[in-house]
Amino acid sequence: MSKKELTPMMVQYQKIKDQYPDAFLFYRLGDFYEMFNDDAIKGSQLLELTLTNRSRNADNPVPMCGVPHKAVQNYIDILVDQGYKVAICEQMEDPRLAKGMVKRAVIQLVTPGTQIDIGTENAKTNNYLTAAQYDPKSQGFAFAYADLSTGELKVAKLTSQAELINELVSLQTKETVVDKDLPQQIEETIKKLGILISHQPELPVQASTSYLSQDVSNSALKQIVKLLLDYIQTTQKRSLQHLKRAVVYEPSDYLELDHNSQYNLELTKNIRTGKKAGTLLWLLDQTKTAMGGRKLKQWIERPLVNRRKINERHDAVAILLDHYFERNQLQDELIKVYDLERLAGRVAFGSVNGRDLIQLKTSLQQVPKIKYILDQIADHSFDDILKNVVPLDDIVDKIDSAIVEEPPISVTDGGVIKDGYNDQLDKYRDATNNGQKWLAQLEAKERQVTGINNLKVGFNHVFGYYIEVTKVNLSKIPANRYQRKQTLANSERFSTPELKEKEALILEAQEQSKTLEYKLFVAVRDEIKKSIKRIQDLADAIASIDVLQSFAAVSEEYRFIRPSLTTKHEVTVKDGRHPVVEKVLGHQQYVPNDVSLGEDTSVLLITGPNMSGKSTYMRQMALTVIMNQMGCFVPAKKAELPVFDKIFTRIGAADDLISGQSTFMVEMKEANDAIENATPNSLILFDEIGRGTATYDGMALAQAIIEYVHNNIGAKTLFSTHYHELTVLDESLKQLRNVHVGATESNGELVFLHKIQPGPADKSYGIHVAKLAGLPNPLLHRANAILSRLEEQADEKQERKNYQQTAKTMAAKAETPQRESEEQISLFPLEQIDDTQADVVSQLKNL
Ligand code: ADP
Repeated sequence: MSKKELTPMMVQYQKIKDQYPDAFLFYRLGDFYEMFNDDAIKGSQLLELTLTNRSRNADNPVPMCGVPHKAVQNYIDILVDQGYKVAICEQMEDPRLAKGMVKRAVIQLVTPGTQIDIGTENAKTNNYLTAAQYDPKSQGFAFAYADLSTGELKVAKLTSQAELINELVSLQTKETVVDKDLPQQIEETIKKLGILISHQPELPVQASTSYLSQDVSNSALKQIVKLLLDYIQTTQKRSLQHLKRAVVYEPSDYLELDHNSQYNLELTKNIRTGKKAGTLLWLLDQTKTAMGGRKLKQWIERPLVNRRKINERHDAVAILLDHYFERNQLQDELIKVYDLERLAGRVAFGSVNGRDLIQLKTSLQQVPKIKYILDQIADHSFDDILKNVVPLDDIVDKIDSAIVEEPPISVTDGGVIKDGYNDQLDKYRDATNNGQKWLAQLEAKERQVTGINNLKVGFNHVFGYYIEVTKVNLSKIPANRYQRKQTLANSERFSTPELKEKEALILEAQEQSKTLEYKLFVAVRDEIKKSIKRIQDLADAIASIDVLQSFAAVSEEYRFIRPSLTTKHEVTVKDGRHPVVEKVLGHQQYVPNDVSLGEDTSVLLITGPNMSGKSTYMRQMALTVIMNQMGCFVPAKKAELPVFDKIFTRIGAADDLISGQSTFMVEMKEANDAIENATPNSLILFDEIGRGTATYDGMALAQAIIEYVHNNIGAKTLFSTHYHELTVLDESLKQLRNVHVGATESNGELVFLHKIQPGPADKSYGIHVAKLAGLPNPLLHRANAILSRLEEQADEKQERKNYQQTAKTMAAKAETPQRESEEQISLFPLEQIDDTQADVVSQLKNL
């Protein structure tokens, strides 16, 4: 259809739509939001709506579908959750008063990263919008992220693409804003992670620089914050007052944990189900508030490296653990605290209603009690937190004086403001109340005059006030005074001049009362807006208290103990446990294990049959380190730990996801990542490295990797293997110790002891494990026979001996090459592989 043939409304529609080509345009038409053309065709499919046509009889009917405005949020959420954007276009004037076309404008562009009205099931998760800008000189990135609902705003300099990907994945961002200069290949990779790429707004708005705190002095960092804020301002078109000042962080302020490790260790997401159950987060979460829940997740994803801060958290947990009674009181108060961060966000956004304000009041009323409890027990370890636990009595008083205890959802229909708050409002209300009394009197009077006992005065929205008389009584009405308004099946409705006059007065008083109430409500809201920063600081402090009490609660329930931090390069754990496996199996069933890595030991070589507990032991070690550095107590009888800077893992998991060749490739990449980036203060966990390829091939690689780590890095390393041949390495590598997971045979059955013991395992129990797995007996007999034959063959034995000899001599002379130049940086040059997420990420790391 040419422009000429479009109706004026469609011309207006098209003009607006042209500005939002990549979003669904929800165009407000009375009580509906309509979509047209391609939006309607696609939208009707995604939202399961009926597709109709506007101007059905014209030559070019316009496809159309719509959603009722009252339910619009659901539909927006469905689209945005699937990674689409929705532009909400409103009527900007009252259609009844408009001359000509009603003015319309987009009031908000909802995108995956800016969605804030997320359901309660997501209350304990942040929704981060991220932004990245490439610096070709350093090949690094300026990076920033914000959560619009909580106001968090952070910025960092990242040194590599791998670091960028780590941040994007660990923040679980759904959308990232980039400028034109981002290399295409990086953009493609980000897309492959399922993250929506949004581009810098064409006409940058001048986002206020007041969001930059003094420490954002670097110009690249300033620029990235501006890019992010410009985007937020162009899409949200409203106050950003609740955004906190940008805080600069360094990835090295935290224990570095690449996203594969986060994933493999099941910190916040269960590998099989993708849910929280069965994860460390699930185990540790006894937080009572949504803010505490989010903070706990952040602490798990970002454990600390600062000794003083870790100790401070340990101190706080110890105090809370010692004060059972006060801790219970604290929990009782915390439960009554609503999501202050998101409430503050809604105040700033102007989307707060009366019920939100009552939630805010109730929450703030708990603060003096929380403060009192902590004052009773706290020592210096709470100083940082307590200084922000400041009761906000002025806000409580304001809300208490203005807002009724049980306000309605709507803020425009009245019933929100308390009696006595405003004189004018009270007058309107009196008028309305008097009106109601007058109506009651009218009813009584008319009954008397007419003698109709069931005569009623009533109201409806279409006809206003009326006098209702049943048909049988119609003969009794004074025809000269009663004017017919409406006829029903069994009755007639009338008005009188007197009623009409009063009706106008009552309705006007009601109307004015509503308008005034809304004005008063907005004034209260704006007043609170000025205190947003105070509310946010308070919210942050309460969130931390909540996490610390959760740590104390789980420490008590699961018998965690306070670890001590050593400055020595050694690890001593007595009777350590894997907390999640222990919870699932039951405390009695779990066999605790020690970890002992003195200054003279860097590599533990762990052997033992499949299913004996090697991988659980290694994960246990990683979780203990992470819990320690989060500030939590740890599952052991005693623990002395250094502060680690990074953890690298190559553990199981990936082979569930990817098969054959690529498993091996992923394995090699993860090994490479560790080798490139580990320091003497790192922890490396390698589970069965090399098993994905031919025996000698794998064994040779495993040995070379162990030697490299041992000789060149010195990181504490747990290396499990089923290559028993490698256990001879302890003769030549001074810092390597053999341990094995015990198993015994009883009546030909294999019994796992799950106990770590010194020295190498002496036998491979493959066939026993196969038996446990239920393989048929004849097959197992056959395997045993083959094994005996093989063992009898001198050749094979000789070969083993040979290998062992070679292994020993090679290790003794190990001359693992030092890196000479940048070109040599990759130990294992990597090729293009499958296009799964894990691959993409690993691939990036190695660029
Ligand atoms: P591996 O890595 O040696 O193949 P896993 O670590 O996967 O073995 O452990 C196999 C199973 O053994 C686990 O699923 C768990 O149920 C059990 N297990 C492991 N360690 C222990 C332990 N310390 N105490 C009790 N059961 C354990």
